[in-house]
Amino acid sequence: MKPETNVSQWSYENKENWIKPLPKSQSPINIVTREAEPMLAEGRIVLNYSHQLLSLFDADHCIEGKLKGLASINSRPFILSQFHFHASGEHTIDGTFFPLELHLVHESQVGMLAVIAVLFELGEANETLDDILDFMNQSGEDNHINMMDLIPDSFDYYHYLGSLTTPPLTENVEWYVLMNRMTLSKEQLKRLTSYHNHNFREPQNLNNRKVLKKLF
Ligand SMILES: [Zn+2]
Repeated sequence: MKPETNVSQWSYENKENWIKPLPKSQSPINIVTREAEPMLAEGRIVLNYSHQLLSLFDADHCIEGKLKGLASINSRPFILSQFHFHASGEHTIDGTFFPLELHLVHESQVGMLAVIAVLFELGEANETLDDILDFMNQSGEDNHINMMDLIPDSFDYYHYLGSLTTPPLTENVEWYVLMNRMTLSKEQLKRLTSYHNHNFREPQNLNNRKVLKKLF
């Protein structure tokens, strides 16, 4: 279906005008933890990410970075396409909002998208987050920035089928919202939001979708 507006011209000020091609399975959502159903599939996530950042840049609506990486999700291979940040966070847990959310966007060989989301709370500073921000507008592999420092050790997660959270809002995206949270300091949040603030979409209707939970 042809989009009715120019996707390149969207902004966070006109969210109500964003195209919703099939407004049934959109993201983000509020996750109601007591309603999450145990996932039957083995569901293990194994990340094999390079410990070197390739680039970090201001991608109009967010800070975006690239590195080489592979994810095995439920025994299926996905290639890491990019990561980016939303402030505030997009997914809410039992109605709780988070100050920051990291999206690790992966794509399978046939183009299936899988996003791993990491929620951040205010607390201790995350040193690697400073290293990442120091890398702004740089590229090259001459660094030791390990993205795994921004990802919890435990891969327990909530899983559901949703969409991209920015236009074109494409559906059929697999979401894996990690249960364990990371922290960042107030100063770090300030530094991040000096680039982009309020670059988030509000939770969308669940519309009978199931949210699964996987505990290892
Ligand atoms: Zn995102």
